[in-house]
Amino acid sequence: MQKSCKEIDKMLVDYADGQLSASESSEVAEHLTKCEQCQRTLQALQRSLELAGVIWEDGLAETEAIRIPVPHKTRKIHWPRYAAVAASILLVVTISVVWRALVKSTEKEPTFAEIERRITESCSAARLLAAADLLDKYTDTKAIAKRQYHYVVKKYPETPAAVEAKLRIK
Ligand SMILES: [Zn+2]
Repeated sequence: MQKSCKEIDKMLVDYADGQLSASESSEVAEHLTKCEQCQRTLQALQRSLELAGVIWEDGLAETEAIRIPVPHKTRKIHWPRYAAVAASILLVVTISVVWRALVKSTEKEPTFAEIERRITESCSAARLLAAADLLDKYTDTKAIAKRQYHYVVKKYPETPAAVEAKLRIK
């Protein structure tokens, strides 16, 4: 059975982040070839994730974040420089929170694998949160941002980003 826009919509964050199974992914891709509205939603999501990802890889250097080129394709959404800077500042704050949490938890001596898992989760969650914050600044994409906050809370409940996301939803 064909999925509705509403159902596809719920899968788009995972789709943009490459988290769907092969069959789910092709189902979404199939829908996208026929639906302009979902295409636009996906574009906004991809742009925000890309931006958040680039900031992350650049070692959180604000100066680097400012130089991120924004393609002209997304005419309706303009990403101002301060949004990129704000996102990178947020990530710095998130990292320090994660670090403190990890240092504190050494009493329990977590295994290396456990620490690695927590770091990976915190990174993914922080990246999604930063992307959602970018989307939240524009009327067109506010609804997507809200969904993304809910997603972070649900998928990465133990992360500092989830705590932040919860505050944004309120
Ligand atoms: Zn659709």
